[in-house]
Amino acid sequence: MEKQKVEIVDVSPRDGLQNECTILAPEIRLELIRRLEQAGVGTIEIGSFVNPKFVPAMANLGEICRQLDFSGTGRNYTALVPNLKGFELAAAAGMRHVRLVIVASETLNKANFKCSVAESLAGFEQVAARARESGVAFGGIIGASFGCPYEGRVPPAQVLALAHRLVALGADEVMLADTTGMAMPDQVERLCAEVIAALAAQRSRIGVHLHNTRNTGYANAYAAYRVGVRIFDSSLGGIGGCPFSPNALGNIATEDLVHMFNGMGVESGIDLRALVAASSWLAGQLGKALPAMIGKAEPVFLEMAA
Ligand code: ZN
Repeated sequence: MEKQKVEIVDVSPRDGLQNECTILAPEIRLELIRRLEQAGVGTIEIGSFVNPKFVPAMANLGEICRQLDFSGTGRNYTALVPNLKGFELAAAAGMRHVRLVIVASETLNKANFKCSVAESLAGFEQVAARARESGVAFGGIIGASFGCPYEGRVPPAQVLALAHRLVALGADEVMLADTTGMAMPDQVERLCAEVIAALAAQRSRIGVHLHNTRNTGYANAYAAYRVGVRIFDSSLGGIGGCPFSPNALGNIATEDLVHMFNGMGVESGIDLRALVAASSWLAGQLGKALPAMIGKAEPVFLEMAA
């Protein structure tokens, strides 16, 4: 039987570092990207093209880009762009793929982007047009797909409508994000299955972006896998969160996710030893212990189970 495969996108240089108290210099962030690449991580979210005045952790991303090789498909790097200005910066820096973010709850979209969901979508139309002109591919992230701290559970119909809009605009992937770590596994199973079914005709790539805020992150990853999701965002060491949501700390950790998939015989293409070494290096750079468990506990499945 053919091995099942997953694509793991490490978001530690972006979602992770954006919410750490310690701000890492561009050369350290570049080294983090290099170590992830060397461990075999196929796609890395290298940062966010935002105003460094507001997000100093993401400053000098262009400088990092100058050291990266975009000559292949360029699909190995992605970065967040909040708006047209961010997109232009990303395109000028050589990015071949970017990610747009919208939040499924009005309140949280307003808190994050100071505009309504409809206004965000209108902005995306401009970005999508520019992306087509400049040959840059883009994915869409739907924040708070599973719940919002202000509005509670988000109606699935709202998420489905946004997923359809993003795909219609040309998004090559749709990531359902549990921005504040509120999702439950049964809910993840239902919503992911619904979105996959709804976008089956467009052959859209559907992924999940999970946070382990309330310790349901890995159960949620498994639930998503069970219904056919094959793209997973995670961060090295489990660092990160959402700076706009109080207490939203910690993406699911890449090494713990790889370990789980190894044990299930699912291929991620990632070398767990190298990943654990990178994580312990990152802990040193941040001067603290990181949430990931593999590295603290001896990994049982260093290699993929047969
Ligand atoms: Zn996140």
